[in-house]
Amino acid sequence: MARVSFPYSAPVSQTLFDRAAAVTPGGVNSPVRAFRAVGGTPRFMVSGTGPYLTDADGREYVDLVCSWGPMILGHSHPEVIAAVQEAVSRGTSFGTPGEGEVALAEEIVARIEPVEQVRLVSSGTEATMSAIRLARGFTGRAKVIKFAGCYHGHVDALLAAAGSGVATFGLPDTPGVTGAQAGDTIVVPYNDLEAVHEAFHKYPGEIACVITEASPGNMGVVPPGPGFNEGLKAACAKNGALYISDEVMTGFRTSKAGWYGVDGVTPDLMTFGKVMGGGFPAAAFGGRADVMAHLAPAGPVYQAGTLSGNPVATAAGLAQLRLLDDAAYEKVDAVSAQLRGLVTEALSKEGVAHTLQNASNMFSVFFTDRDVRNYDDAKAQESFRFTAFFHSMLSQGVYLPPSAFESWFVSTAHDERAIERIAAALPGAARAAAEATEATA
Ligand code: PLP
Repeated sequence: MARVSFPYSAPVSQTLFDRAAAVTPGGVNSPVRAFRAVGGTPRFMVSGTGPYLTDADGREYVDLVCSWGPMILGHSHPEVIAAVQEAVSRGTSFGTPGEGEVALAEEIVARIEPVEQVRLVSSGTEATMSAIRLARGFTGRAKVIKFAGCYHGHVDALLAAAGSGVATFGLPDTPGVTGAQAGDTIVVPYNDLEAVHEAFHKYPGEIACVITEASPGNMGVVPPGPGFNEGLKAACAKNGALYISDEVMTGFRTSKAGWYGVDGVTPDLMTFGKVMGGGFPAAAFGGRADVMAHLAPAGPVYQAGTLSGNPVATAAGLAQLRLLDDAAYEKVDAVSAQLRGLVTEALSKEGVAHTLQNASNMFSVFFTDRDVRNYDDAKAQESFRFTAFFHSMLSQGVYLPPSAFESWFVSTAHDERAIERIAAALPGAARAAAEATEATA
């Protein structure tokens, strides 16, 4: 990585990173933050306001990561902060039921028709792990179908051919997952219904569920082809398996009712995280009442959490969701469309082969001129061009996800000034991408 020339240094971040590396593996608490795919020093952020982040060296960036999705209203939204301050003034955790968690559950159930009952947890990983356990408990079956390039958190059984950090680092199926855990996972190519039918045919009566990202964003943005989610639903119904739609990323982001609000396909179970926590650790899984009734204490499938439904997290999530009305989604969608136009224009001007794909306001750029329909297509892009593009943007004060395999995220706070700053940075970044060669990456 050292061959990329980094346009400026970040001495305070570097010092913090050195300290972090001494006490934390790789210097970070979640791998994609480490800049390993693009090289250089990860920026240690100290504050965020609206569409901007400020790092420890005092530099301001327009943020196109939005904490990997949650900050759909931008940073430090006054009403979210006020709700958090009010909640925190009453205490931070009680280990009892509280009204805030009821109100958040009611908000989720009201927004998303297929969710009749919901259980709150603290991370998307917990949500998908619990949904899989419930599906297995409900059906009495062991096997799970997942798609290559889809990431569902670091759940043992779901780390096979996962996207996100696993894609970024080209990791093999990770050490630490036993053969038994991986053995019940059937991985098939995304957007390939035939492969799903074949799997059901090969393992009759053994498949508990199909889990899919409602619209994948962890191999870059690769939306489902026409009829794909409907086909999954039908294949599950026909074979007595549950259809689990993972909306941790798309939920409450791609529309008021997430991707369900876009394609209307009714899953048996759904998982949520990110936006619903307002920047705090809150996530959920829910769906059919008859399936959820199998969950402890109502039923035999055990699932629990000391901090589940935490009063501060639920206050933040609820405040954020209540602010997300039709006008907010119109704004985020418009910002996304404007940026997509600017990115394509800049790259086209420099003759850089690229494909820009979006799922409502989520989008990413693939450095290839081909449509990207699955993980193999995504991996075939010239990601060395992304590295050059990323560093040019960073040096000009625009913070992109440090990987070619991630969605970019915008917020209602991305105003004209922020967009102008991005627009001003794009020509230089496009030039850097055009000039990049594999040897410079
Ligand atoms: N599912 C999807 C679709 C995700 O994008 C993620 C995280 O990026 C997860 C699950 C895991 O969520 P968390 O990081 O909160 O554990």
